[in-house]
Amino acid sequence: MTAYDDMEAAGGLIVRTARSLFSRGLTHGSTGNLSVRLADGTLLLTPTGSSLGTVTELSRTDIEGRHLDGPRPTKEAFLHAAFYRARPSAHAVVHLHSTHAAAVSCLADVDPANVMPPLTAYYAMRVGKLPLLPYHAPGDPTLEPLAETTARDHHAVLLANHGPVVASASLEQAADAIEELEETAKLHLLLRGHTTRPLTTEQAAALAPTSS
Ligand code: ZN
Repeated sequence: MTAYDDMEAAGGLIVRTARSLFSRGLTHGSTGNLSVRLADGTLLLTPTGSSLGTVTELSRTDIEGRHLDGPRPTKEAFLHAAFYRARPSAHAVVHLHSTHAAAVSCLADVDPANVMPPLTAYYAMRVGKLPLLPYHAPGDPTLEPLAETTARDHHAVLLANHGPVVASASLEQAADAIEELEETAKLHLLLRGHTTRPLTTEQAAALAPTSS
């Protein structure tokens, strides 16, 4: 993946992806935010208070999440910026409050180092390990250093009592991975109380994403 060097084309891709996610119920109200890293190193993000179903104008920030132009960026811009600083190969970040992943983020009895077992091959390929970051109020910037440190080793994280964040080389890949995460969260909840047989450690390791 080469960097997004055409701001207008990248903006169009963000708007189309946001509408697709919203129209299929993957986030609701004014929740969720998407971004890409442009070739000049600045970030193009969905603005604060916008619905992914109707967003048209986008915000631009620097790599520290500081507002440059366009409408005010999402309050979670600092999270996107933390992922881009931690992962030079990442050119897109998607954050949703998707129902099943948000439900899993509220469970008390999960392993914070890896929230869900590798139930399917596609989850092992597109997400891999999923650490849980402890609860912070939305927009609380004290989450930033923890997110940046965790993102060095993980392209996907789950924010406790909140939702997932996924960084990938392209917006298509980030959206695909976060949808896989949501579907696996649904399976994980459906299977609670059942004896399950996830992939073995070796099977999952053989499919693990190398770098995104
Ligand atoms: Zn959020």
